[in-house]
Amino acid sequence: MTTTRFDVRTPGRNAMIDITAQVARAVEDSRAREGTVTVYVPHTTAGVTINENADPDVVHDVLAALDKAIPWREDFYQHNEGNSAAHVKSSLVGCSPTVPIIDGRMALGTWQSIFFCEFDGPRTRQVLVTVQGTS
Ligand code: ZN
Repeated sequence: MTTTRFDVRTPGRNAMIDITAQVARAVEDSRAREGTVTVYVPHTTAGVTINENADPDVVHDVLAALDKAIPWREDFYQHNEGNSAAHVKSSLVGCSPTVPIIDGRMALGTWQSIFFCEFDGPRTRQVLVTVQGTS
């Protein structure tokens, strides 16, 4: 098993940043041929998800729908940091997808990418990548 980490600098309060290349590099460096890779975000106001990479409108729409469902409001939540919307989005999106590794590569679909999801930026965030497998 190998674990590597890298930083992501997020540009605004809400963002989805394609981190597929960094995760693919960690899989390559591990030399695993068969196994799994888990991407983990150690934050409570961010997340990581897998979604479409072809049409940037999909990222826009995911962020817009989350914002509509879970608006940033001062008058509704109790948490005194004022960022409860980001905490709720983090729980909905989740912090840790796992992808199979087949023949040394992630078995992502043609249109799938791994996205770091920022909900309370801009910040510098961490991503951990754990590869379990056999070479
Ligand atoms: Zn908070």
